[in-house]
Amino acid sequence: MVNIITLNLSKIKSNIQLHGFNPIEYAINSYYNYCDCNSFKDLKCPCCGNHSLTYHKVYDRNLTYHYKDKMYNAIIKITVCKCEHCSKIKGKQKYHAILPDFVLPYIIYESSTIMKAILDYYNGVKSKEILERLEIRHKLLYDWIKKLNAYSFPASIVLEINNVIQNIISKIIEYNSVFLNEFYHNYNHPFFLFRLTCVPLCIIP
Ligand SMILES: [Zn+2]
Repeated sequence: MVNIITLNLSKIKSNIQLHGFNPIEYAINSYYNYCDCNSFKDLKCPCCGNHSLTYHKVYDRNLTYHYKDKMYNAIIKITVCKCEHCSKIKGKQKYHAILPDFVLPYIIYESSTIMKAILDYYNGVKSKEILERLEIRHKLLYDWIKKLNAYSFPASIVLEINNVIQNIISKIIEYNSVFLNEFYHNYNHPFFLFRLTCVPLCIIP
């Protein structure tokens, strides 16, 4: 079984130049830079708490996002580490996928793309326009709206603002990955995902 570790990119120094990249490409490159140049000694295994993660493999993961009136599909190579400490016990090998914080676990769409669509909906933009722009179906947009409503109260606590949906969404867009990290830190559960009891997650560093 593969667990997930969410990597807080805002706390990682990057020597990647912003020039020529859109913000998501920049974040993806910062993530690669971290994985390539790092021995993962700054990360802890969420199961045993030891700094004993080593590179195991990469897998491809899709990410769809909207930037400057265009939809983009990125394939991100996600690094999976093995915990050498846990894996000493035969048959108990532990693997952890290192997920950059702008990637929501199990969700293909990038979080600010989702939030901007919901904000437009609340600001009176016609659903048809939003669906065409994001190339998505009705059901997906309404699923997002329903989920955000379920999450608006805990999100307002994290953001320390009143539970007013438009304000909450604007702040989430503004603070995107910082917010996602804060949310996890407060609730021990990723934002926008219904509680997953079978998948332990942790935020690092
Ligand atoms: Zn371990």
